[in-house]
Amino acid sequence: MKIYSGRQGAILFIFCIILFTYQVSAQKRNEETSGKADLYKAKKNALEYLGDSLIIRKYGNISDAIWNFAELGMQEFKSSAILIKTLEEEGFHVDKGVAGMPTCFVATWGSGKPVIGILGEFDALPGLSQKGLSPVQNPIVEGAPGHGCGHNMMGTAGIAAVIAVKKSLEACNLPGTIKFFGSPAEEILISRPYMVREGIFNDVDAVIDNHASSELSTSYGVNGSAVMSVVFSFKGKTAHAADTPWRGRSALDGVEIMNVATNYLREHLFYTYRMHYVVTEGGDAPNVVPEKASVWYYIRNTDDRLGEMYNRVLNCAKGAALATGTSLDSATVLTAVHQRHSNKGLAEIIQKNIELIGMPEWSEKEQLFARTLQKELGEKETGYASVIQPLLKPQETEVGGSSSDVGEVTMVVPTATVLFPGGVPGEIGHHWSTTASGYGSAAWKGLNTGARVIAATAIDLLTKPKLLSDIKEEFKQYSKEHPYKSFLPEGAKPPLGMNREIMDKYRDAMSRLEHDTK
Ligand SMILES: [Zn+2]
Repeated sequence: MKIYSGRQGAILFIFCIILFTYQVSAQKRNEETSGKADLYKAKKNALEYLGDSLIIRKYGNISDAIWNFAELGMQEFKSSAILIKTLEEEGFHVDKGVAGMPTCFVATWGSGKPVIGILGEFDALPGLSQKGLSPVQNPIVEGAPGHGCGHNMMGTAGIAAVIAVKKSLEACNLPGTIKFFGSPAEEILISRPYMVREGIFNDVDAVIDNHASSELSTSYGVNGSAVMSVVFSFKGKTAHAADTPWRGRSALDGVEIMNVATNYLREHLFYTYRMHYVVTEGGDAPNVVPEKASVWYYIRNTDDRLGEMYNRVLNCAKGAALATGTSLDSATVLTAVHQRHSNKGLAEIIQKNIELIGMPEWSEKEQLFARTLQKELGEKETGYASVIQPLLKPQETEVGGSSSDVGEVTMVVPTATVLFPGGVPGEIGHHWSTTASGYGSAAWKGLNTGARVIAATAIDLLTKPKLLSDIKEEFKQYSKEHPYKSFLPEGAKPPLGMNREIMDKYRDAMSRLEHDTK
């Protein structure tokens, strides 16, 4: 054994430390570069698949087909079938009829952790039938539904993204699971609270949502309104309205007095509220005192104010029944959802991929359509947007507004939304102008851009464990302050019969014209 002097030993010790540090950092560098190479390859593969012109056409045609079907929420049988068929052809396992809804499905590919989920919608809106790319109002079938919110592109962007991710994981031999959550009836905010109640997000690590827009952007924080969708039904007594009106009690009076009461209530609600209603049943003829009448309310507020507001509206209904000698037969909660709480860490990853992918290039023909539509709507004739948006921060002064049942998912899994272009700046949501632009080449480019951002983000989450663990930690801390409790009353069921009558009325006329829409 050789004995070193104190000085020699110290030099040797320092040398060993330097050598060890060098080796560790070289190993780390190697791991990082090989990790990065795999990651780069995985992302490149997915983006190359989606960039192929035949693939853009393939998903564009699916989006146009769903646009043509224009099926309302809970009745999206053809729309869900075409998405399911495409996923099954690519080797996904598809669970159908999920959470008690025939058009709800979950498609899965891969195994083990992490599990990344993509949301996708495909329902249309009533009365918004419109010829594709017509810059003036021009229904295909007068009064029929139309895709006035771009949901035809959204389900399609979602499946294009998960298929691209699957192909890439397979090619690079990477572990992990990718899921697509086929979510019906978003326009009436139905599916997600029931999907969450079913526990189908329990094993999911992060969720990427998407929505059609005229811009390419993402955001984080709280926005929109929580909502309860409730049908109040009154029961009265029928009688001859002229001969013996004193023998009758009008259920319609119950509805009318309830509406008067809620309209007085408005003054005393905190200003974050929104409240609106339609009378869905109000009797059949003026000379018969209506025995039954119903009014459908959307009661909206912040998460923490919704329950109290609902109770006050319910009191208006009870008071109206008392005043009119009718009874409040039922207050049926169709759905109830939270505000949207988007995860900041996930939005930041989406933003990086937005910057990587950028806006599509629009053709002169597409720009001409956009400018003509803008002129028709009295908007600035700027054409399609050409630049991406910066990461949108929560706007503390903004209150109220619309709701999305995606809010429910954001409460149980870290979630953020990609807004993708394809719509014309200045077009009006839930209006024929949005139906007009949701069809054809610009819509195809928009949904393809969305699919690329989603796929790139999913690959980041699947291949960079630190990013995912940071997002999950952010969510864990946030959930401590915002614990989830469903607003659905016990025993609430998804209203499967919704929109059936409207679809039955228009289905034949719409399918006859499916291939002649421009
Ligand atoms: Zn929408």
